[in-house]
Amino acid sequence: MTFSTEEEIWTPSLNGLINEAAAGLRVCPGAKMDMQGVAQAVFNRQPDDALVGESLLIAAGYAHDPSVRQAAASGGVTTALLDHLFARGEIDVAYCSAGRDPKHGKAVLARSSDEIRQAMGSHYHPINYGSQLPALVDSSDRFAFVGLPCEIAAMREVMMARPDVRDRCVALIGLFCGGINRFSGIGKYIENFGTDPKAVDDIDYRDGAWPGQIRLTTTDGAAPKIIPRIMNNSRWNILRYVISFQGYWMLPRCRICPDQIADFADIAVGDPHLPRFKSYGSPGYSAVIARTKKGLEIINDAVEASAVVLEPLSRDELVKSQGYTLENRRQALLYSKVASFLGMKPPEISIYKGLQNHKTWHQYVYAFVDLIKIKVRQRKWLRPFYMPLQIFEYLFLTFSVRVLLNRLGKLARGK
Ligand SMILES: Cc1cc2nc3c(=O)[nH]c(=O)nc-3n(C[C@H](O)[C@H](O)[C@H](O)COP(=O)(O)OP(=O)(O)OC[C@H]3O[C@@H](n4cnc5c(N)ncnc54)[C@H](O)[C@@H]3O)c2cc1C
Repeated sequence: MTFSTEEEIWTPSLNGLINEAAAGLRVCPGAKMDMQGVAQAVFNRQPDDALVGESLLIAAGYAHDPSVRQAAASGGVTTALLDHLFARGEIDVAYCSAGRDPKHGKAVLARSSDEIRQAMGSHYHPINYGSQLPALVDSSDRFAFVGLPCEIAAMREVMMARPDVRDRCVALIGLFCGGINRFSGIGKYIENFGTDPKAVDDIDYRDGAWPGQIRLTTTDGAAPKIIPRIMNNSRWNILRYVISFQGYWMLPRCRICPDQIADFADIAVGDPHLPRFKSYGSPGYSAVIARTKKGLEIINDAVEASAVVLEPLSRDELVKSQGYTLENRRQALLYSKVASFLGMKPPEISIYKGLQNHKTWHQYVYAFVDLIKIKVRQRKWLRPFYMPLQIFEYLFLTFSVRVLLNRLGKLARGK
């Protein structure tokens, strides 16, 4: 993998291919995401619930250890489960992210509770996550693998081709994912608070009380700086945040993605963005889905051992907690058609059958807006228009007069 400074992403290049040899296995969910095919291979059927995917348990939860719960991205369920598997002697290694440096982020093979805890948090910029795969695949370690939905799908394909790797895999823990953003976009937001993004060498996007603030450490040795995300922020800064984190700088593949909630993981973990969990200063909650029997057993065992605490979360609450993005992501074929229309090259995609009839005209509008933003990013002269367009989107793309009036009030008050 090499870092393209122009595109700001890690791109693969193939070397060492021998012309006469049979083509090796190429696993790249960036190029192809066959939801129906992978579902068939993993679960031997298509899900009854095409929006949520397979689920044996849906719950809210958190790490029993308050220090993990506080320092983690959501409620620390991921770290608590990894820690628990270590304590039980069930894994030798946990594949996680050492991704807080925006330029040199990579994967880490964590071999102790301390190393697992150092990897906590959510890293929203591109990282070289395949960097430790050869070491993992060629070892004899029993492992748990943490990854974004696309990375979990890739691991499933690796495991289908390599039964020896499958036999050593104790758990695939998938993070819900709304997309990865180029760091220069994130940098635009950081600049508003007087920090030079080029000087940032460590960024914690989820510092402190859930859902957390951004903590920046810079190369000049200055004291770390805390800047707000959504909570405790002015309405105008929230619009700036959305421009930087949810639009123009998002990787195109992330915009055309049918899997937001890690359908092929044993256990999927996300943020339950619901008012009842979100009061400011909340100690942190995770949304948890056990998708396989193995995943359910691990969760039940962790609860019994008091490593993880669970609370009720209904299927509909889970869907609601992801806002409109889950429904939009599931319509990735529609996004793919709009992308082709706009002259972009979409990945090859199949979506679950049950979803074909759930398209609405709203989703075409969202797809156009989302993809046009990505397309115009390189036209720097358009940047002064980003804020007026974001205000327009904030007010009018809700398609509801009541929400429009409410939001006009919020803009006027700056809240
Ligand atoms: C790019 C991204 C987008 C996300 N989008 C959403 C969303 O739209 N909706 C939602 O509900 N939740 C989303 N999440 C998930 C959420 O932020 C938490 O990661 C999840 O709830 C797990 O929280 P936790 O407290 O259990 O994690 P922790 O206990 O803090 O552990 C997190 C684990 O994930 C690993 N990790 C962090 N970043 C990455 C990465 N980029 N790639 C691979 N591994 C990583 C860490 O090394 C660590 O092992 C996103 C996360 C990421 C990284």
